[in-house]
Amino acid sequence: MSKRDYYEVLEVSRTADEVEIKRAYRRQAVKFHPDKNQGNKEAEEKFKEAAEAYSVLSDTQKRSRYDRFGHSGVGSGAGGFDPGFTNIEDIFDLFGFGDIFGGGSSRRSNVQRGADLRYDYEITLEEAATGKDAKIEIPRLETCDECDGKGTAEGTSRETCITCNGSGQIRYQQGFFHLMRDCPNCAGKGQIIKDPCNKCFGGGRVENKKTLEVKIPAGVEMGSRLRIGGEGESGVGGGATGDLYVFIHVAEHENFERQGTNLYTSVPISFAQAALGAEINVKTLNGEEELKIPTGTQTGTVFRLKNQGMPNLGGRGKGDLFVAVTLVTPKTLSREQRKLLEQLAEIEDVDFQDEGFIEKVRNIFG
Ligand SMILES: [Zn+2]
Ligand SMILES: [Zn+2]
Repeated sequence: MSKRDYYEVLEVSRTADEVEIKRAYRRQAVKFHPDKNQGNKEAEEKFKEAAEAYSVLSDTQKRSRYDRFGHSGVGSGAGGFDPGFTNIEDIFDLFGFGDIFGGGSSRRSNVQRGADLRYDYEITLEEAATGKDAKIEIPRLETCDECDGKGTAEGTSRETCITCNGSGQIRYQQGFFHLMRDCPNCAGKGQIIKDPCNKCFGGGRVENKKTLEVKIPAGVEMGSRLRIGGEGESGVGGGATGDLYVFIHVAEHENFERQGTNLYTSVPISFAQAALGAEINVKTLNGEEELKIPTGTQTGTVFRLKNQGMPNLGGRGKGDLFVAVTLVTPKTLSREQRKLLEQLAEIEDVDFQDEGFIEKVRNIFG
């Protein structure tokens, strides 16, 4: 089988420049990569073919030899070519993001946005109802005030890394390839600090505690999240500051259950109150409210106290408080109470054999 022309393999013209060749190779490599074409022999061959073509056309000297003498000029007659890497990621890695999209420095940026921070804050149900001005203390990385974030000792500055000449990358050979890797001397930054700031040790940031006042709005719920822009960690090298997120936890309340803006509670009443009717005081979130129990009230009846629930978050209006009354049978009786109840029992007309009663029995034992 005769070897195909390298330009044909990469589908580029003979005048294609470096960037075009890189792009073309990347396109072919991704298309025919073995990971994407499991067990496809033809794709594997094409993948190797493209890699080989690239190894020659990306090298100025080899390319010019190839242009003049063809395949024999670059000694690539034999098979068994090993592209030298196995993962698709390596192909992306090989070019670097900037390179794929045309030029751009491959030097790793010294500018970095500060991280977002999370702070968990617990409040009571009462505080959730009224809102709260909370003071919170957050530990965070802030720009070093000693060096103004530069990381260098006073009177000194960063120096160009001599290992990579400031490019942040070093070239090395692997198989037919020149691969670019982050320079180990400067961690890809292209610059080194010889004389670091004695406060931040060159990092440009220091741990600090910041006290913030946070306005927690009325009506917040469990899991409500408040975003406070620009109060996260400071950036590096002039990068933007991150944001702070305050996560609200509303503590459980001994008297009230909350569902959205509504609250639920239960109060005990006596047989006499249920039978004769009464006015009782019900604890609300803000104090007490009077509740009228009508005559003949059954246990489990639910009453509604309007606007005694939680406020709408960021809106108008309030939810309601639902009060379930529970009839409590006395466990002990005074002599007089017993006498009166006995009298009541004598004249009581016990006829519960209506449908409702049977239904209730079924509910209890069913
Ligand atoms: Zn370097
Ligand atoms: Zn410093």
